[in-house]
Amino acid sequence: MPSYAFPPAAVPALPIVGGDALFPVHRIYCVGRNFADHAIEMGHDPSKEQPFFFQKNPDTLVHSGATIAYPKGSRDVHHEVELVVALKQGGEDIPVERALDHVFGYAVGLDLTRRDLQAEAKKLGRPWEVAKAFEESAPCSAIVPVAICGHPDQGRIFLNVNGATRQDGDLNQMIWKVPEMIAILSTLFRLAPGDLIFAGTPAGVGPIGRGDVLEGGVDNVGEVRLTIG
Ligand code: MN
Repeated sequence: MPSYAFPPAAVPALPIVGGDALFPVHRIYCVGRNFADHAIEMGHDPSKEQPFFFQKNPDTLVHSGATIAYPKGSRDVHHEVELVVALKQGGEDIPVERALDHVFGYAVGLDLTRRDLQAEAKKLGRPWEVAKAFEESAPCSAIVPVAICGHPDQGRIFLNVNGATRQDGDLNQMIWKVPEMIAILSTLFRLAPGDLIFAGTPAGVGPIGRGDVLEGGVDNVGEVRLTIG
C-alpha cells in the first residue's frame, strides 16, 4: 500500500439491485440533447447535431432517497431525468455491434443543471462545468444488472415534482441509442469499468425549488427520489 500525505477520498459507489457489493464509479459522462423534443425546447435543430458530451465528477453522485440543499450560486436549477448506462468493461474504439457487451446494468439519474449559469456559459463560449458538475448534481438510483432488466431501448421515462408530471417521454425517442453512444464516446475517451453514461433527457425540463420532492423513473429500470431541503 502506498503512503498518502492524508487519507484519500472514498470511492464513489452505487448500490446494485439484488446484490450486496457496490458498483464503484470511475467517471460520469453525460450526453447532451439526445431527445429531439428536448433539443427543440432548448432552441436547437436535432436533425443537424452530432452527439456531444460533458462530464460530471464522480463525487457529485447522490444516492436515491437523499435530501440535498438547494444548490449554491444559482437561481434556476433544473431537473433532467435520464437513463444511466453503467459499464463493466472499458476500451477504445468499441464497435457498435459489441458495445452492449460492455454494459453492467442501468439506472435512473437526475442531471441537475444550473440553467442560468449554463445559459451564460453558452453565450460567452465558456465551459459548462459550473452548470453541470457542482456538488450533489448527480442523484442516481441503484444499478439494475442487465440480467434483470435486459437492455431497455423503449419504455416510459418520466419525472414527477411533488406528484405532478413534468417530464414524460419514451426511451424509443432517443436520437443516439445506447450502443451508438458507447461506440462514439469510446472514440474520444478511454472507457473503463465503473463509467456511467447519463443518456440525455426528454422534454419538460424545468426549475426545482426548496421543499420539492422529485421522483424520476424508467420502466423496468427503477426510480430515483430526491428531496430539496
Ligand atoms: Mn442532461
